[in-house]
Amino acid sequence: QHLITRADFDFIQHDVTVPLNIKIDEIYNLACPASPVQYQIDPIQTTKTGILGTLNMLDLAKSSSAKLLLASTSEIYGEPEVHPQPEEYWGKVNPLGQRACYNEAKRCAETLLLNYHRQHNTPVKIARIFNTYGPRMQPNDGRVISNFVTQALQNEPITIYGAGSQTRSFCYIDDMIAGLIRLMESPGEFTGPVNLGNPFEISIQELAEKIVLLTKSCSKIVTRDLPADDPTRRQPDITLARQTLDWQPTISLEEGLLRTIQYFYPLLNRAVTAENLYA
Ligand code: UDP
Repeated sequence: QHLITRADFDFIQHDVTVPLNIKIDEIYNLACPASPVQYQIDPIQTTKTGILGTLNMLDLAKSSSAKLLLASTSEIYGEPEVHPQPEEYWGKVNPLGQRACYNEAKRCAETLLLNYHRQHNTPVKIARIFNTYGPRMQPNDGRVISNFVTQALQNEPITIYGAGSQTRSFCYIDDMIAGLIRLMESPGEFTGPVNLGNPFEISIQELAEKIVLLTKSCSKIVTRDLPADDPTRRQPDITLARQTLDWQPTISLEEGLLRTIQYFYPLLNRAVTAENLYA
């Protein structure tokens, strides 16, 4: 929305599962919801987006001699037996589970990228994105940081799934964008996959407590059932990104959370006001 008036910006609404024929230099294939709640609403469409969408973008890259960057995911490591996760680790994924529509599609998308690279010399870049958050997330996105921040700002119960001992490592959006651009601009022969994420690891219980503190909320912490196949631990090994892209995150979790809270605060206040008005 904020870019729409710029002369050097064009917006084309198009479903990536349908072939596209335009002239292009670089493709950031970020299509697909990344929130487990959102990508499980229509798992068939999620799989199509990951596989057919990537195939269509590869054909577009091939016909335009363009570079294609794929937003792959730490989900391809599944329930990891290696910690932290380096790119060499093949992962432990349940191919029949509820998350498979997303992580198996992304695994296949990675395969497709490397096959186009080997067979057609298509320039490809694979980013394995670890949990990322920040302003412009939807309040109903369903992932943990937007859930906890919106709950805390409204003094509603903070919903921890399971015991809260599971861990994640959260990367602020600006750091992630910088990493993706570095990867796109990396030398032609470098395909990745490369992990992009913030190695600072935190338990979900600690995250909840931190957000309550930062928002000065009165929210109580409550527990809900742990979803199936929810990974126990996740932390990126970013040695490769440091070495090849000269990239590492610069924004601490606390700073990133404060910026995210500042983003959500007026949004939620408006929502509350509107509700009151129409009540
Ligand atoms: N989670 C939680 N409460 C919520 C949303 C998520 O405790 O309201 C947990 C979820 O079970 C997982 C972690 O937070 O262990 C991260 O979940 P998210 O959906 O953000 O991303 P994931 O890493 O699972 O893809």
